[in-house]
Amino acid sequence: MPLDPSRTVAELRELRESTGDENGAQRVAWTPTWERAREWLRGKLGELPLEYERDEAGNQWWTLRGDSDRALLIGGHIDSVPNGGWLDGCLNLMAGVEVLRRIAEEGTPPVTVRLVDWADEEGARFGRSLFGSSAASGSMADQEEIRNRTDADGIRWEDALREHGVDLDRAFDARRQLENAAAYLELHIEQGPVLESLDLPVGAVIGTFGVERWQITWRGQAAHAGSTPMDERRDALAGAAKLALEIRDVARRAGGGAVCTSGGVVCKPGIVTSVVETAVQLLDQRHMDAATLARMLEEAQAASERFAREEDVEVEWERIWNIQPILFHPELVELADEAVREVAGRSHRLPSGPLHDAAEPARIGIPTVMLFVQSLRGLSHTKLEDTKPEHLELAVQALDRLATKTLAWAAR
Ligand SMILES: [Zn+2]
Repeated sequence: MPLDPSRTVAELRELRESTGDENGAQRVAWTPTWERAREWLRGKLGELPLEYERDEAGNQWWTLRGDSDRALLIGGHIDSVPNGGWLDGCLNLMAGVEVLRRIAEEGTPPVTVRLVDWADEEGARFGRSLFGSSAASGSMADQEEIRNRTDADGIRWEDALREHGVDLDRAFDARRQLENAAAYLELHIEQGPVLESLDLPVGAVIGTFGVERWQITWRGQAAHAGSTPMDERRDALAGAAKLALEIRDVARRAGGGAVCTSGGVVCKPGIVTSVVETAVQLLDQRHMDAATLARMLEEAQAASERFAREEDVEVEWERIWNIQPILFHPELVELADEAVREVAGRSHRLPSGPLHDAAEPARIGIPTVMLFVQSLRGLSHTKLEDTKPEHLELAVQALDRLATKTLAWAAR
C-alpha cells in the first residue's frame, strides 16, 4: 500500500468514536477501555507481515524483519488522560502504522522496523508517567514505590498490573527490546503554541527540557490583620510573592527558551483577618542546557534568601523531582529538519517542554529524534485538543520521509 495520510486521520477519528465520549478520550492505562483500544490497534496491523509481542512491561511491539537485526523503532502511546484529547500519543502510533504499511509493501527493508505502543505513558491512574518506556530503558528506579502506589479507589498498582498481565518483578525484562535498536523516532503533537505562532505545521525537536521541581516553605508569624502595624509584620506570603515575580527575570536572563513557573502557593492560616504565617510555594524550572538550568536554580535560591531577609521570614527549599536535559541525536535532528522542509517548505527546531517516551531511549544512548505537529491554540490534555487535518497529513508524510532517511542512515 502506498502511503495514505488521509487514512491516518480517518483511523484517528474511528478511535475517538470507539474509545471517547462527550468529555474526550477515555483510554486511561490499565482500564478496559485502554485494552479495547489496544485490541483495535492490533486489528489495524493484523494483515501486515509482522511479528507481534507484548513484553514484560506491557508494551506492544510489531516487528517487520529486515536484512539486518538492527532495528528502527517508531513509538507512541495509545493511553490517554481522562477526558483527554484525540491525538496525544495515538497520532504517533497511527502515523507509524501508515509508515509500516508503506515499508512492508516495498518488501524487506535494509534494517528491521518495529512499532511500539508504550504502556502507560501518561501515568493518569497512578500518578507516575512513562511506565513501559522507563522499564524498557532500565531507568525505572522506583519499583518499590510503584508496587505500593494506589489509585483514587485504593487499588494497588501492582495488583492492577497483574490484572493486565504484567508482573512488576519481571518488568525490567523488557530491556531486551531495546538491545538492537539503531534509532528511535516519534511524532507527537506539540501541546504548546510555538509552531502555531510561527505558522508552521511541523517542526524538528532537539530534545526534552531538564526540569527542577521544588517546594519552598516560607515561615513568618501569624498576626492580627487589624492590630499589627505594617512595619512589624513577618508576612510569609510576601516572600513567596516576590519570588513568583523574580523568576520571570530569572527565565529572561537565562534565555534559550527558559521557563519558570510558580504553580501554587498555599497559605496558612489562610483567613482574611491574619497575616500569613506559612506559605508553601511550588516552583518548576526548565531549560535545555544543564549548566543554565543549574544557574537558574541558584539565582532563584539566592533571591529567596534576600527576600527572606527583607521580609524577616524564614525560607526552606525541598526538591520534589528533577531530570537532566536530554538532547536528541544531532544527525537525526538534521534528518528530521530535512524531512520537514521537504514536506512543508520550511522547518523550525524546538525543544520539548513536556517529557515523552522518546526521552527514555535517548537517555540510554539510542539515537533518537522527535517531530512535532502544530497544536491549535497549544491545547492538550483536554477534549479541545486539535490539529488541522491537513497538518496531520503533512506530519504523517514528514514521519515517512524521516523513516526513509533514518533507515538509510542506520544501514550505512
Ligand atoms: Zn503523549
